[in-house]
Amino acid sequence: MEEARIIDTKPISGDAIGTEESLSLRPLSLDDFIGQKLVCENLSVFIGAAKQRGEALDHVLLFGPPGLGKTTLAQIVSHELGVGFRATSGPMISKAGDLAAILTNLERNDVLFIDEIHRLNPAIEEVLYSAMEDFQLDLIIGEGPSARTVKIDLQPFTLVGATTRSGLLTTPLRERFGIPLRLEFYKPEDLEKIVLRGAGILGIDLSRDGANEVARRSRGTPRVAGRLLKRVRDFALMSGGGTVDRAKADGALSRLEVDSMGLDSMDRRYLMCIAQHYGGGPVGAETLSAALSEERDTIEDVIEPYLLQLGFLQRTPRGRMISETGYRHLGLTPKIRAEQFNLLSDNE
Ligand code: ADP
Repeated sequence: MEEARIIDTKPISGDAIGTEESLSLRPLSLDDFIGQKLVCENLSVFIGAAKQRGEALDHVLLFGPPGLGKTTLAQIVSHELGVGFRATSGPMISKAGDLAAILTNLERNDVLFIDEIHRLNPAIEEVLYSAMEDFQLDLIIGEGPSARTVKIDLQPFTLVGATTRSGLLTTPLRERFGIPLRLEFYKPEDLEKIVLRGAGILGIDLSRDGANEVARRSRGTPRVAGRLLKRVRDFALMSGGGTVDRAKADGALSRLEVDSMGLDSMDRRYLMCIAQHYGGGPVGAETLSAALSEERDTIEDVIEPYLLQLGFLQRTPRGRMISETGYRHLGLTPKIRAEQFNLLSDNE
C-alpha cells in the first residue's frame, strides 16, 4: 500500500475534508484568498462583468499542481457570482447519463466544478462539447436501428474545470474554455500570510518567525502548509505548549523529516536515484517510476514540479537530470558530465 506523505500535495485522509475545521480554513471570497494576484484580479473583472450582464460567466479552466487552491477558487467563483455550486470529478462520471443528470439539474448561471477533467472518458467529453458551447445536450437513446438522438435544452451554466497540466486536455476541450488560468506555486511571503491566517483560525499561538519557517518548508503549496501547521501544533502541545517560534517549528518539521527546503524522504529518494543509479541523468520518467515504484502521475504532478521550480532538477529532451544545486542539496559533489552540458545548451 502506498504510504501517505506528510507533504503530499493531494488530499489525504487526515485532512478531514468536509469537517468544520477544514471548511473554515478555506477562504470564501476573493478578498480572503491570499496570493495568485493576477489570477484573482482577472477573475474579479470577469465575475463583475458577468454579474452586470446577468449572464453566466464564461467557462474557466484552472490548471496547476495539486493543493494550490483550484477547488477553493471554483467555490469562490460561485460565491462571488451568488449562484449554486455543484462539484464532481472526471473519473466519477462513468456514463453520459451521469453527466446528463448533473447538467439538467443545474439552475440558471450555476457553477459546475469538474476536478481532474483530463480524466473524463472521451465519449462523455464529446457530450460536454455541445453542453458548453450551446447549452444543449445531444443524447443518443437506445441502440442499433431504433437508436435516436434527443436534444435537451440546458440552463446557461459555468463549467470550472481543474487539471494539473493544461497539456493533458484534448485540444477541442481546452479550446472551449474562455478563461484559462494557471496557478503558480505561492511566494514565501504569501504562504506566510496563509499560515498566520490558518493559525488564527485553529487557535495556534504562532510567532511571525515560526510562521515563516512553516511557510518556507511547505513547497509553495497551501495544502501542505495547512497540514504541517496542524502537526507543528501537535508537537508544540506535547512539549509543554507556549508560543510556536522558529526553533519549535524547526524541531517539529525536522522530526517529520521535512528538510530546510521542504523536501521529504520521497523527494530525496527521487533525486538520489537519479544521482546514484543513473549517473545524474538524463533518465526517462517511465524508468524512474519503475525504479521508485511510484506512479508516473505522482512523479510528474507532485514530485517534479517543485524540484524543477527549485532548480534541483532539469528537464531535457532525453529525460530528467539532477542539477548542480540538486547535488549540493543532497550533500554530494556535483558531477556534471560533458554530455549534460551539451544537452543543457541544446535546451536553451
Ligand atoms: P486543489 O483543488 O488545487 O488541489 P484546494 O482548493 O483543495 O486545492 O486547496 C487545498 C487547501 O489549501 C484547502 O484546505 C484550502 O483551504 C487551502 N488554500 C488553497 N489556497 C489558499 C489560499 N490562497 N489561501 C488560503 N488557503 C488556501
